[in-house]
Amino acid sequence: MKFRKKCRICYGTLKKIISFNKISLVGDFSKRKTNKTKYPISLNFCKKCKHIQIAEIIKPEKLFSKYLWQTGVSKTNILLFDDLIKDYENKINSNTKVLEVASNDGSFLNYLDKKFNNFIVGIDPAKNLQKRNKNLIQIPGFFNFTESKKILEKFGKFDFIFARNVVAHVSNPNEIFSGIKNIIKNDGYAIIEVPHLLPILKNLQYDNVFHEHQGFHSIKSIYDLCKRNKLILSKVKMIKSQGGSIRCEVRKKNHLRIKRAKISKYIYNERKNGLFNQNYLKEYSLRILKHKSKLINLLKKIKLEGKRISIYGASGKGQALIQFCNIDKKLIDNIYDISKLKHNKFTPGTNLKILDSKRIRKEKKIDFLFLSSWNLKREIIQQEKKFKNRGGKFIIPFPTPRIIVK
Ligand SMILES: [Zn+2]
Repeated sequence: MKFRKKCRICYGTLKKIISFNKISLVGDFSKRKTNKTKYPISLNFCKKCKHIQIAEIIKPEKLFSKYLWQTGVSKTNILLFDDLIKDYENKINSNTKVLEVASNDGSFLNYLDKKFNNFIVGIDPAKNLQKRNKNLIQIPGFFNFTESKKILEKFGKFDFIFARNVVAHVSNPNEIFSGIKNIIKNDGYAIIEVPHLLPILKNLQYDNVFHEHQGFHSIKSIYDLCKRNKLILSKVKMIKSQGGSIRCEVRKKNHLRIKRAKISKYIYNERKNGLFNQNYLKEYSLRILKHKSKLINLLKKIKLEGKRISIYGASGKGQALIQFCNIDKKLIDNIYDISKLKHNKFTPGTNLKILDSKRIRKEKKIDFLFLSSWNLKREIIQQEKKFKNRGGKFIIPFPTPRIIVK
């Protein structure tokens, strides 16, 4: 394993602030119980640009080539497409050329194809997720500057480039931004979505810290990336995705009149909230310790009362959280998930068996469902009405661990 010494955005010097306990890679599910390697993970502060990032680098091929996280399985994610397209509907038609970076299972591309029937290209390393649709061009691979040159040669420049939930995942985000700069039309739009650092720190969402997430982005960090790559951050919108994300509209630096004042105001607000202050990050580690013990005590109390707990959601977040808190077979019976790709596999580092969430309705031996995919709680609680109606209760880990009865 490699360790980053310089900032992934500005190459400034890093300072380690928090070391977590070692965890196995959160997406590394197995057919059998295994003894997976556990890797260190830490949060580091860039002395120069203040960007918060992990220092531990795992080869991207190892992390993403057999990715099991599918956009299409969550209804909440589909609703997010509607919300995104609503903002740009009048700018997209059948002549619009669209590129999606990290197109995952092609859910968003299929959505666009149905709606606009336009020219669409997607690029993603997870070959296992790509579905056939003859209207889509899907390139297996990682998007970077070199890849952008190949795409440019083959398809020319694009009107729209979408990069959702990918900038935080790469070791060098400058590669994505310089690639975008290379293939976006002069009047084109790039839409970049990333989980926002503000709720991650404020609402203590430390379950976002795992090896796939290399950096934790603020509006300032996206602004810095644009500036370094001669692009303009023209608009920002707060969205509900992933427990709180930012949707950034990025454009080419030409004759545009951009409302800089608004972006500066956002960054001022982030600064006021302590996002660029390393002492706030130090304090964060103490808050995490308190949260961990609260969560473990709640689960132990339920177990002592003779009740049974299972987890809903074998997401990356969930795998990070249960490993950080040493939540294992002693407290949890099984994990349920909607994704077929994960069924009958065992969780990395904790060896819990993943079962089809459809079984919850029939399973009498669950008293509590611990929602590790807490960001989808509304959708899950609605879906598991039968469980709730027969007296089942939900445990929500964030911001404070609690039980939902109603
Ligand atoms: Zn930096």
